[in-house]
Formats: sequence, C-alpha cells, structure tokens
Amino acid sequence: RLARLRARLSKSNNVLGKGLLALLSRERIDEDVWDEIEETLLTADLGTDATDDLMLQLRARVKVEGSRTPERVREILGEELLALVGPDMDRSLATDREDGKPSVILVVGVNGVGKTTTIGKVARVLVAEDKDVLLGAADTFRAAAAEQLATWGSRVGVPTVKSDQDGADPASVAFDAVKAGVDQEVDVVLVDTAGRLQNKTNLMDELGKIKRVIEKQAPVREALLVLDATTGQNGLSQAKVFSEVVNITGIVLTKLDGTAKGGIVVAMQRQLGVPVKLIGLGEGPDDLAPFDPQAFVDALLD
Ligand code: GDP
Repeated sequence: RLARLRARLSKSNNVLGKGLLALLSRERIDEDVWDEIEETLLTADLGTDATDDLMLQLRARVKVEGSRTPERVREILGEELLALVGPDMDRSLATDREDGKPSVILVVGVNGVGKTTTIGKVARVLVAEDKDVLLGAADTFRAAAAEQLATWGSRVGVPTVKSDQDGADPASVAFDAVKAGVDQEVDVVLVDTAGRLQNKTNLMDELGKIKRVIEKQAPVREALLVLDATTGQNGLSQAKVFSEVVNITGIVLTKLDGTAKGGIVVAMQRQLGVPVKLIGLGEGPDDLAPFDPQAFVDALLD
C-alpha cells in the first residue's frame, strides 16, 4: 500500500516532498532555508497554524541538538510532521452491528466531492470482509445520483434502496433504507446524501431531518464528511458548515491522487478535530485506502 500511495502522490508532483527534498539536500541549513521550508509547508496547504507550530518545534529541536545536517533536519521534520498528522487518532470505522442493530454510516459533503464513489468503494471493502451491506440513496436532488449509487451497488453486489421519483423526500428514502437494513439484519447501512451548500438553512434542515428519521430505527454510528483534496482551503469552509449540522466522526479525503497539496490533511483534521479515516486515490473501485499517518509522512518526504 505504501508503494502505491507513494506512486500516486509523486504522480501528482508532490509540492511538499519535492520542495523539501531540494531544500534539505543543500549543504547547510541556514536562515534562508528555514524560510523556504516554511514557505513550502504553506504552499502544501498545511495551514498557517500548523506551519507555525511545526517551524517552532523544528527550530527548537535543531537548536538544542546543535546539528544542522540536512539528514538530521529531515528526520526531525518527519517526526514533527507525524505528530501533527496525529498517529494515535482512532481511525477505525464502526462496521459491526450493535445492540441488534446495523451500523448506520451517513455520508455527507458537497456535490461532486466523491460521496457516491466513496460509498461504492467502502461497500466493496466491507463485502470483501464478509459484511452484509445495504445502500440508501438519499441524494434525491441530483437526477442521476440514485442510479449512480445503484450501479455501484450492483457492481459490488449489494442492494440499494432508492426512490423511483426524482426529488423524492430524502428523509423518507433514508428511513426506508435503514428500515430495510434493520429488517434484513445487515451489518452496515451506508446512506448517501445531497450536499447543496448554496442554501445553508435547507441543508441543515434536510440533514437534520434525515438524521432524526434514521435514529427512529438505529443510531447513526458514523457521519463521514467527504472532502475533495483538490479544493484546498475551500474545503475547510465547507467542512465548517457541515460540522455545524452533523456530528462528524471522520473525514474521507478524496482525489488525493490529483493534488500536490497533501498538507491539507493536517489542516482539515485541525479544523474539525476528527481524523481523516480514508483516502481516495482514484476513480476505480479499489482506489480507497485507510489513512496511514506514517505512510503518508514517508510519502511526503520521499
Ligand atoms: P458526489 O456528487 O459527491 O456523489 O460525487 P461522485 O461520487 O459522483 O464523484 C464525482 C467525480 O469525482 C466522479 O467523476 C468520480 O469518479 C470522481 N472521484 C471520486 N473520488 C475520486 C478520487 O479519489 N480520485 C479521483 N481522481 N476522482 C475521484
């Protein structure tokens, strides 16, 4: 997996990796290099807070040790980056039945970030783990969304509950899906939702209602916020809106294969206070990986 992640990240011309590598291969780390390291971290979308913290730690440790060799600075940078990425955060997904009920996983995010695709990929992983899975197509706003989800469902061999009508009440579809999941005693119900950010009040009302009707049947054990890594800092403001509506338990960062700015992982986790649990590395059914902090840092610095 590490090799694949590395290949994907380097394919995207990783700003952080390339920039730092060039800097750290200089003979001496002087004041200019410090500034350039800082700039590189900012360019990689790490965010100002995290960058400030990291630079402080880095400078302090290098000063204490008295060693400014590029190798050592790079090592320390790797350790400090890892600490920022949060190696001890719980990144597991709730995928077991509890109290005789399926685990309901609500998937939220702005249109086009990759929710439907992510649900298809997650379902595939769960099926491979011998789980009974059911999909709920509560994105009734976008005409083709339910069909697209059902296509993923048949591709990975799991049923999809959807409405045949465009513009049906999303909460009613979510209710039906979770009811079917409870009746059929499945392990996991994955619920797709629409993400129209244009109207925040509508979005809040709609997601709130979806959550309420689901919880008449089974608790929402996970609310995964899907964010598109290529939108950079824009994704952060989206994240904020969604976190005001639902209690987000984890982030799925998609399209990491298409950005040079992997630092966004750190910025997003800091903003939301929840871990990135999964990353999307392409459009295909196998292009999903659990987020592995050490592998991620290694890939960034390689
Ligand atoms: P939704 O509106 O949030 O449900 O988004 P979709 O699942 O329909 O995805 C929107 C587009 O992004 C589609 O063309 C997907 O194939 C693509 N996509 C989703 N995830 C990834 C990813 O990890 N990498 C890349 N390169 N494309 C992705």
